[in-house]
Amino acid sequence: MSQNSTSAGALGRHPTRLVRIGRVQVGSQVPIVVQSMTNTDTADHVATAIQIAQLARAGSELVRITVNNDESAKAVPKIVEQLAKMNVEVPIIGDFHYNGHKLLTDNPACAELLAKYRINPGNVGQGQKRDAQFAQIVELACKYDKPVRIGVNWGSLDQAVLARMMDANAQRAEPWDVGAVMREALIVSALESAQAAEDVGMAGDRIILSCKVSSVQDLIATYRELARRCDYPLHLGLTEAGMGSKGIVASTAALGVLLQEGIGDTIRVSLTPEPGGARTQEVIVAQEILQSMGLRAFTPMVTACPGCGRTTSTFFQELAQSVQSYVREQMPVWRDQYDGVENLTLAVMGCVVNGPGESKHANIGISLPGTGETPAAPVFIDGQKAMTLRGDNIAHEFRAILDEYVAT
Ligand code: SF4
Repeated sequence: MSQNSTSAGALGRHPTRLVRIGRVQVGSQVPIVVQSMTNTDTADHVATAIQIAQLARAGSELVRITVNNDESAKAVPKIVEQLAKMNVEVPIIGDFHYNGHKLLTDNPACAELLAKYRINPGNVGQGQKRDAQFAQIVELACKYDKPVRIGVNWGSLDQAVLARMMDANAQRAEPWDVGAVMREALIVSALESAQAAEDVGMAGDRIILSCKVSSVQDLIATYRELARRCDYPLHLGLTEAGMGSKGIVASTAALGVLLQEGIGDTIRVSLTPEPGGARTQEVIVAQEILQSMGLRAFTPMVTACPGCGRTTSTFFQELAQSVQSYVREQMPVWRDQYDGVENLTLAVMGCVVNGPGESKHANIGISLPGTGETPAAPVFIDGQKAMTLRGDNIAHEFRAILDEYVAT
């Protein structure tokens, strides 16, 4: 039995078990893991492998794919083969709904090559069929030595559990509100399913839980209670967070509160990409949430001022953008060559008001000239003024300074 009551961990994390997913570990004793999901047709193994590679190169440490039909299941070995050709190593998680028991039974290569199975208890048959199909997936996971994520979602909540919670609520002297009943149903569905998996024979350290909702306050309340009641690792994510700034802000608000309380062992930021937008944006946002909170470092972060009437051009904004893009592009190489490069801080500032002060706080900072200031850009390295750049070649020269700093 893995359900218990625990307090905050030694590292400020809610203590959870360690679960191995391929070569990646998830739990409170290891750093919080970033994951994402493809949106290609999995049966299109080339497109799916390319997107997995893009997500992995952007920093996704686990990548989930939909396995919704026989063609998708049969594509999994080809996807793995393509990724090997591209020299991409990332655990691939299969997302199963309705027919996972059948797909995994009929496609042993798929069952063997996936690193983890996601099971949604609300989408595994009904009644006795549900219990049998759930047990079948868990038995297959045991047979192939795969962990599972029991991923409850309030858009597909187990109706039997919800009905039971509603009945129980009706008997209460002071009934909860509907939201509280829903949250309790999510938690009960996750915990009872985890217990059912253990009853079938799955070890407690092969189970991860999630209870995703699309409301910030409900997500926070649900995970606080879920964490209080179990020590399974928890996957955090605001489901259906939405597009653009709305999705980013809502995800950050919800995840930020929970992560600050030590809750969450793996995260996904579920953004709806703009038409034609990159899927990798959700990986970058997840990394930036963790890095902004000081929980992990992935890539040097650029501090930049917003600009104001003291700046006459957008040059400093363009410089800040180009420096951030440059370090992201370089990280796959730098990470292997230079220990700790991800912890570097950079500053690109627009004028003398806050420029030198902020630049001195960074490892490398540049303070560009504002309106009426001498056309010179002092560069600060580790708090000391190191040189002054002038002319049209500032961006190129600043990048050369950065390259040299990283290499020494
Ligand atoms: Fe404006 Fe200068 Fe402040 Fe940037 S640093 S916001 S340019 S006053």
